[in-house]
Amino acid sequence: MQISEKKKQANKHSRSILAYTQLCMLKTTSLLFGVFLLGILTFCTTAEAQSTKFTTDDTLRGTLNWERSWWNVQHYTIAVQPDYLGKKIIGSNTIQFSYQAGNNPNEMQIDLQSPMQIDSVFFHKKKISFSKRGKDSWLLKLSKSNGASRNAKKTLVSDSVLIYYSGNPRIAKNAPWDGGWIFTTDKKGRPWMTVACQGLGASVWYPCKDHQSDEPDNGATIRITVPDSLVAIANGRLQSVTKSKNNESIYEWTVINPINNYNIVPYIGKYVNWKDNYASTSGNNLALSYWVLDYNLEKATPQFNRDTPRMLAAFEYWFGPYPFQEDGYKIVESPHLGMEHQSAIAYGNGFTNGYRGRDLSGTGWGKDWDYIIIHESGHEWFANNITTNDIADMWVHEGFTMYSEVLFIEYHYGREGADAYCRGVRTRIRNDRPIIGQYGVNDEGSGDMYNKGAGFLHHLRETINNDSSFREILRGLNQDFRHQTIDSKDVENYFIKKTGLPLQPLFDQYLRTNKVPVLEYVESDSKLKLRLTNCNELLTMPIRIDGKQPQNITITTSWQEFNMPEGVSIKNISDNFYFTKKEASSSL
Ligand SMILES: [Zn+2]
Repeated sequence: MQISEKKKQANKHSRSILAYTQLCMLKTTSLLFGVFLLGILTFCTTAEAQSTKFTTDDTLRGTLNWERSWWNVQHYTIAVQPDYLGKKIIGSNTIQFSYQAGNNPNEMQIDLQSPMQIDSVFFHKKKISFSKRGKDSWLLKLSKSNGASRNAKKTLVSDSVLIYYSGNPRIAKNAPWDGGWIFTTDKKGRPWMTVACQGLGASVWYPCKDHQSDEPDNGATIRITVPDSLVAIANGRLQSVTKSKNNESIYEWTVINPINNYNIVPYIGKYVNWKDNYASTSGNNLALSYWVLDYNLEKATPQFNRDTPRMLAAFEYWFGPYPFQEDGYKIVESPHLGMEHQSAIAYGNGFTNGYRGRDLSGTGWGKDWDYIIIHESGHEWFANNITTNDIADMWVHEGFTMYSEVLFIEYHYGREGADAYCRGVRTRIRNDRPIIGQYGVNDEGSGDMYNKGAGFLHHLRETINNDSSFREILRGLNQDFRHQTIDSKDVENYFIKKTGLPLQPLFDQYLRTNKVPVLEYVESDSKLKLRLTNCNELLTMPIRIDGKQPQNITITTSWQEFNMPEGVSIKNISDNFYFTKKEASSSL
């Protein structure tokens, strides 16, 4: 919807700042940043920042209108040549797509953000016309008359369009939190280039259907032309390196599995490589490949060789086999902290343990492993294997991935550490707004999708009260939604169906409101009165009370009295449940 310029600016401000704090990585909190963040949070709690105002461009980007929905992306072939000195890129994208017979080629919306521009478009080898649609979208005129003859018996028709584009792409000022191209130098002054565009969108550098619901079904080919002194890496496997006459090399990489637009990324620099293998639980040999700047080889080798197999052992146990066997697994050193680029994880954690040497949980359990290897690789299951249709449901990416850190600790160090780590990250929850955002307008929910997402999943696990069932659900999600785009509702229904528990009010409470339920209690002798407040009236919470003989009770929003065995009190209700305990007046 259209909004006034003043409101628009205020809203853009709050949204860009929220994005800044929410993107894939968590922020380091220097004192200065803490002050900055406090200012932001104060700003974001104002009524204006909380109000929902979106622009036409937000809708063009976030909604599947007809010009985007009549066709389905099959494959992107992206050719790109960066001009390091001019901070410019020129390129092309051949978009192979399919559509239902009857929906003849029509007007097609393509996203490419300003100041990048489309130079020419070819359809069936003929130049076709196009026009700008809003600030960051374009409308191609694929008229019916351009269409070749088609077999009427075919229900699905394949076609392609070739788009040439160029420009000075937006430069990332603080990647990966604000996106764009990165034209930087390594410590020896040599060019180092890549892109980070999660949230901002891949259309910041190449023309595509920039909506999370439509991944190219057959993957992508990325062809990068660079000076022959540099090496270019992208997702999937290296197909060829061709030397051209101008002292240039053309690196061609292909990924054959479906891939998020924002995960398709080139890395260009003075890279060296080593390889390894991993015996996957799928029974296959998974190819591991590591790329770092030449002078970092010695530091990187022991770090990557130690934590990659540990990560795979834990995640294949909890989530099932690595989902992109055919494309292999890579870690690529990046000038920014990290990102979940599918089959080519971006890594910039300095070859140190923790999150740049720190433990985000404050408990000590986050110090013995490399945060970026674990977190970004966790996304291979949640974000890359299972992708949400709308970024409003991004908690499925970030909540489950933050929880993958908890599960990594549990696998290697035991449950006590996992519980402590999860409670530690829970202290960072702000509850400023719900973690599910608004649909159709390219809106992520609260940055709490990380910490609250993980805290909620731990709560959900306690509620299910059956770890083998919980693990089967995690593995089942990755198997049954393999390489698919889905909604939060699909995940919720999956848990409800597999457990047989009435969990919908629980999901609604924790995902769709920012209210944390309060467990009110009155203790007397061997009795415990309990009820839930600050929540949906329909909320019921099956919980376990630990003790010599653990008891399972169901708490509702009405007072109930339970007989407690001797020595059992409110303290025996596990702290892994995420609610606030509050003693009520004993006169109740
Ligand atoms: Zn993440």
